Amino acid sequence: MGGVMISEKVLNALGPCGLNCETCFAHADGEIRKYSLKLKEKLGNFEAYAKRFETLLNNPVFEHYPEFKSMLDYPAAENCQGCRKEKCRLFDECGVRSCHRTKGVDFCFQCNEFPCGKTNFDGDLQQRWVQINQKIREQGLEKCYEDSKTKPRY
Ligand code: SF4
Ligand code: SF4
Repeated sequence: MGGVMISEKVLNALGPCGLNCETCFAHADGEIRKYSLKLKEKLGNFEAYAKRFETLLNNPVFEHYPEFKSMLDYPAAENCQGCRKEKCRLFDECGVRSCHRTKGVDFCFQCNEFPCGKTNFDGDLQQRWVQINQKIREQGLEKCYEDSKTKPRY
């Protein structure tokens, strides 16, 4: 597809839009999920202690521990396999997933219509999508993949 040799590693990690699924909080093997699970394990029964610390340290921040815990539970419970394997759980309306198949390309940067108006992305995401795909065109997929691994997605 698209006349470019693409490694399996890159193809599995990057969605056809160019965003890195492995840095998404919902990805089964992503670092956000990994560290959420680790933090949950390390915190153990902190809930009981949070109440004590509230009084002991006279700091109301500990009142918010239950909210913090439910936030932490969320990514820890996610297990998305990535955009190439399943429908995105975060963005139901994504136009790229089905479109790249119809167009016969692995990535939008390879498409003769790029940058198109078919993504259904909002203004910010659309802008980011254009920038990512332009960068891939200029610097290559491997370099952009390596860069995206260490940068926060959000
Ligand atoms: S497909 Fe969507 S939910 Fe799944 S890892 Fe990629 S961006 Fe996250
Ligand atoms: S038409 Fe747009 S969304 Fe579809 S593959 Fe081309 S650039 Fe991507």
